[in-house]
Amino acid sequence: MTRLFLLAALFCLPAGAQAADYAVVHAGRLLAFPGEEARSDQTVIIKDGMVERVAAGFIGQDEIGASADDTVAVHDLKNMFVMPGLIDGHVHILSENNPRARLQRVEMSEADLAIAGAGFAEKTLMAGFTTVRDVGAGSSDAIFALRDGIARGDVPGPRLFASGATISVTGGHGDGTQGYTDEIAELLHSKGVCDGVGECRKAVREQVRRGADHIKLTATAGVLSNTAAGLEQQFFDDELKAIMDSAHAMGRKVTAHAHGVNGINAALRAGVDSIEHGTYLDNESIRLFKRTGAYLVPTLLAGATVVEWAEDPTSFLLPPQRAKALQVGPVMHDMAKRAHEGGVKIAFGTDTGVSKHGENAREFALLVSAGMTPMEAIRAATVAGADNLGKSDVLGSIAPGKYGDLVAVEGDPLSDVTELEDIDFVMKEGVVYKRP
Ligand SMILES: [Zn+2]
Repeated sequence: MTRLFLLAALFCLPAGAQAADYAVVHAGRLLAFPGEEARSDQTVIIKDGMVERVAAGFIGQDEIGASADDTVAVHDLKNMFVMPGLIDGHVHILSENNPRARLQRVEMSEADLAIAGAGFAEKTLMAGFTTVRDVGAGSSDAIFALRDGIARGDVPGPRLFASGATISVTGGHGDGTQGYTDEIAELLHSKGVCDGVGECRKAVREQVRRGADHIKLTATAGVLSNTAAGLEQQFFDDELKAIMDSAHAMGRKVTAHAHGVNGINAALRAGVDSIEHGTYLDNESIRLFKRTGAYLVPTLLAGATVVEWAEDPTSFLLPPQRAKALQVGPVMHDMAKRAHEGGVKIAFGTDTGVSKHGENAREFALLVSAGMTPMEAIRAATVAGADNLGKSDVLGSIAPGKYGDLVAVEGDPLSDVTELEDIDFVMKEGVVYKRP
């Protein structure tokens, strides 16, 4: 006899708990592959955390082919809309912007950052994001500790891909020492700061040595750095090429933070795999995106968030930050619209850490207001998100051989995408973390 776990509505398995050998999900509607149509009355069979098969109708426990020793958990989602776990391609999971952020840089230890990150990671997972890409965690080793701790099941959180320190020029957007005294700046010196071809090669290789899954660079200035340096290109072309070539030679994808058009286009010409923000992209950028196949990660939520702060006279933005926020925020919506209409591949990313962890799904409505259909926005956070990570073999859809990462809502996100701001059910690798 098959031993049955009668899990439905009884309890959830905490992180690190032993999952059942089989998880069987009865889905009222199933969007297995966003971009293709949703189907009614489907069963997803997950074995040892990976999808084994998807079958029409509601398959009973005795029909799934489990052996006598296997444990089986059945999840009744017959009144729900089930889809792949969501992917956020741009987060900063160790921190969240707040008025004390600049002080916390000299107050928080690596251990403090790891514990804070664990809390943010749990909020992210409960919001339905089962995979995230962290694109810049300073020089902190805590990001790798958190990634590995989640993978071991020590703490609940999304599957984490980490870049380590951001590659930046001295005084550039990824050099977090602006505004501190020289003595403090020396202590805070980022492991990713480099100038010239030789240093940039070394900075990339140093991140790979530390455990980076991908490389993040700041091709242009940014909104929240405390420097009135505009928003234009910061690395020279030879430095950009050195970064791309060193990363690619070691099997790492590269993503570039870029606002100003010269920085966007220079990074694309140098062979970058994706552009974050993309605020001032032009027709030449669109041509380059399509020629190289690079993704755009528009981070509209970050734009909306910094405008909210800049318009609040009591907010904590410094004068250069406030000026740049008001300059960039309103342009980003139009940028995403032009890129989408121009046929640029778009992957979902929020820059959460600027906005609050757990609110990542607010990006969906912003993408829809920029002209994407709900289906296209969902595809950006699943199928395209997985492709952007180079992980389409195991992520992004519900199909045999992929991780058993599923989320579900009671409403229909294809008619109202804001349904995804309140995810009712979260499963990662066959383990349930949240249920209605
Ligand atoms: Zn960011």
